[in-house]
Amino acid sequence: MKTPRIVVVGSSNTDMVVKGQRLPGPGETVTGGTFVMAPGGKGANQAVAAARLGAEVSLVARVGQDMFGDQAVEGYRKEGILTDLIVRDPQNHTGVALILVDRRGENLISVASGANHDLRPQDVQRATDRIKAADVVLLQLEIPMETVQFAARLAAEAGVKVILDPAPAPDVPLEDRLLRSVTCLTPNESEAERLTGICVRDEDSARAAAEKLLQSGARRVIVTLGAKGALLAGREETVETVMIPGYPVQALDSTAAGDAFNGGLGAALARGLSWEEAVREANLVGALSVTRLGAQPSLPTADEVRRFTETLARQ
Ligand code: ADP
Repeated sequence: MKTPRIVVVGSSNTDMVVKGQRLPGPGETVTGGTFVMAPGGKGANQAVAAARLGAEVSLVARVGQDMFGDQAVEGYRKEGILTDLIVRDPQNHTGVALILVDRRGENLISVASGANHDLRPQDVQRATDRIKAADVVLLQLEIPMETVQFAARLAAEAGVKVILDPAPAPDVPLEDRLLRSVTCLTPNESEAERLTGICVRDEDSARAAAEKLLQSGARRVIVTLGAKGALLAGREETVETVMIPGYPVQALDSTAAGDAFNGGLGAALARGLSWEEAVREANLVGALSVTRLGAQPSLPTADEVRRFTETLARQ
């Protein structure tokens, strides 16, 4: 069987998490917390998700020439990700997210995007051959919009599927020319609401938001709806709008569920599955990721997804 190939163009961060009893107010110090450091960033999370599911993944990203950058690249290499297209930026530090979590799971997050902010079209240009040989390109919005636009166009012109997770939700509407290059948009409820002005809470409101995004130029939309699953909608006659239910799990931590979903979707499409089958598989990957703590540590392997499917079939 042909190796499924994915290129992710996106962010790579180091997440530094302090868990304490409560969140400090302005000017206040709260002591007694515990500390965890982990690789993160939506681009890197999606790359790890797809790699654990067996795809050959190239990550196009920028990290600093600092200790965090060393650790990030080493970590991705251990995941089997091709890291030759990651630029070590001499001018900027590796992106960092400082995350404070209280005992109830409420959080405060401050991000210094550092090198991510300087991921340029030229960096994507260097990945042209890899993108042309890919089955799917995965994009998100934690890097400059012009870079997202460039990568989407390059992939679209080569006939490669482009999946854009519009996260974090943009302040301005997505440009028409970006929508034209994208094969599928994958907003969650709040991103769909930000992009359409429609309050998305359930299947009906997700249908209305998807319809509006299709009218504004998107070819295919998947609205992810947390535990409820995802709604798949398309403009082409062959794509009926269908609600694909989520899988019942004991949710522990929803961090990176969307990244798990997108990585799963990309890996499934790259294997040649249909859109409906791919969303079903992405729901499995998303569901498994919420049963475990953290971002990248929670992303399942292909074996874990297979075992989960077998367990579900026995129920
Ligand atoms: P985001 O993490 O971007 O907010 P969602 O919360 O919509 O995105 O989650 C993405 C996907 O992960 C969902 O479409 C679903 O497949 C899966 N998922 C998320 N939360 C749950 C849950 N509690 N139970 C089962 N699946 C979940």
